Amino acid sequence: MTHHINYQVLARTTRPTKFSELIGQEALTQTLKNAIESGRLAHAFVLTGIRGVGKTTIARLIARALNCVGVDGTGQPTSEPCGVCDQCQMIAEDRHVDVIEVDAATRTGVDDMRQLMEGISYKPVMGRYKIYIIDEVHMLSKNAFNSLLKTLEEPPPHVKFIFATTEIRKVPLTILSRCQPFDLRRIPVDVLLTHFQNILQKEGVQFEMEALECIARAAGGSVRDGLSILEQAIVKVTDNKITVSTVQEMLGLADREKIATVFNCLMRGLVRECLEATKTLYEEGADPDIILQDLLGTTYQTLSFKVSGAVSAEGNKLQALAEKIEPKSLMLVWQVLMKGAEEMKASTMPLENLEVILIRAMHIQGMVGKENRGEIPSLVSSSLSPVSAVSSPVVSPERLVTSFRSDGMPKTFEDVIQLFEKKREPIIVDYLTNDVGLVDFRPGAIKLNQLRESTPNLQPKVAKFLSECTGASWLVELVTEKGQESLGVQRALAREKREKDALSTEEAKKISELFPGAQVVVK
Ligand SMILES: [Zn+2]
Repeated sequence: MTHHINYQVLARTTRPTKFSELIGQEALTQTLKNAIESGRLAHAFVLTGIRGVGKTTIARLIARALNCVGVDGTGQPTSEPCGVCDQCQMIAEDRHVDVIEVDAATRTGVDDMRQLMEGISYKPVMGRYKIYIIDEVHMLSKNAFNSLLKTLEEPPPHVKFIFATTEIRKVPLTILSRCQPFDLRRIPVDVLLTHFQNILQKEGVQFEMEALECIARAAGGSVRDGLSILEQAIVKVTDNKITVSTVQEMLGLADREKIATVFNCLMRGLVRECLEATKTLYEEGADPDIILQDLLGTTYQTLSFKVSGAVSAEGNKLQALAEKIEPKSLMLVWQVLMKGAEEMKASTMPLENLEVILIRAMHIQGMVGKENRGEIPSLVSSSLSPVSAVSSPVVSPERLVTSFRSDGMPKTFEDVIQLFEKKREPIIVDYLTNDVGLVDFRPGAIKLNQLRESTPNLQPKVAKFLSECTGASWLVELVTEKGQESLGVQRALAREKREKDALSTEEAKKISELFPGAQVVVK
């Protein structure tokens, strides 16, 4: 079964006829309702917000609220217009003579405005108020604004102005200062999602939840844009079901899981895998520009999880990866991708451009090749699927703990050395391992005993470096008090002991008998 619904039918049939049906603008509607109920509505107000967020819908609701006379024809202005009286019905059908809707984008001239203003002094024909709804008011010419301003300075009591604009900064302050402002916010994704769900249930159309999520995200906070996408999806429906693949194809969207794979490879410096996954996405129809935007989104989510623990709907998939990435790397990647997004706008070779941006991001964060040296714990399995990566990480739990700990505050002297190993500071690692002995260790304070000569001035460097890495202050003191042997000596002694113990086992004795002269190496 295929649905055939005319373009933008949904936007009309689902347009709210009551304040209570407006979605995502609760604070604003409450203020408006209070003002209407108490009769304290300003004579002019301006509604601002992105397109398709409900500006003209609210303007018409206000027109109804002010002119409604109720079912019995004796009602006063109300925040709950009846919807059945002549006033309400004529406004709903766009044929109320006293409700004048003007699109400033097409009637910008001073003559248009003068003509409009001439009618203002006349009393309303059938309604309580004459209501002028001027959409895209910022498009008016300077002279038209001046003409409007004169009226706003001394408005007749029977007139109300409702201005709507997407660009309030282009509206002169002299106008704005005479209006009550109402900011309409973008409709949150979850609110849109519920709205679309209700609509589809009423229409009897089946859907995959993820498909609706894609639409809600693509709407960018605009109900109208969302409905328009939803409508196109309904038209494309086969087997009476909106599927995620239909929506992705329709919008040129990238598969979320594959984006996660690209991101995974990107953060781990797996150049070849990263580029392959990107190319697959492209071949499946994803726009390089959208891939880049999605990667930016993923970087943001991971970073915000990292610094604040905030988890979005998809965040939990990234959680495991996030624990192993430093905020610094994420910020670098963010910067490179952001700059890349600018370049992409002018690019004639979007895929190639995207690939170069990804390579740059991997090189700048210094991740290339680290995987092979085992510095970044392997997260994804060989299939590179991010889902299986989270459910069956190949990295051992111990490894996770140590790598996480060394990212934060070192808890032991060995942690400190491990941190410098990770930061690739071989001179300091050698100094701490072989040149000094530990006297006392507390997080934030280390006392060392110099055991042998070393490169000068390393001890203040250790303190400075630790403070930078951990964000806490560190005191590293050299004391004369005798402490432990150097860590290098301790390790050598421990190894000797293990070898001796191993050699004395029955098994080792047997091996020596079987292979005379063989050296048993303990691993
Ligand atoms: Zn009514």
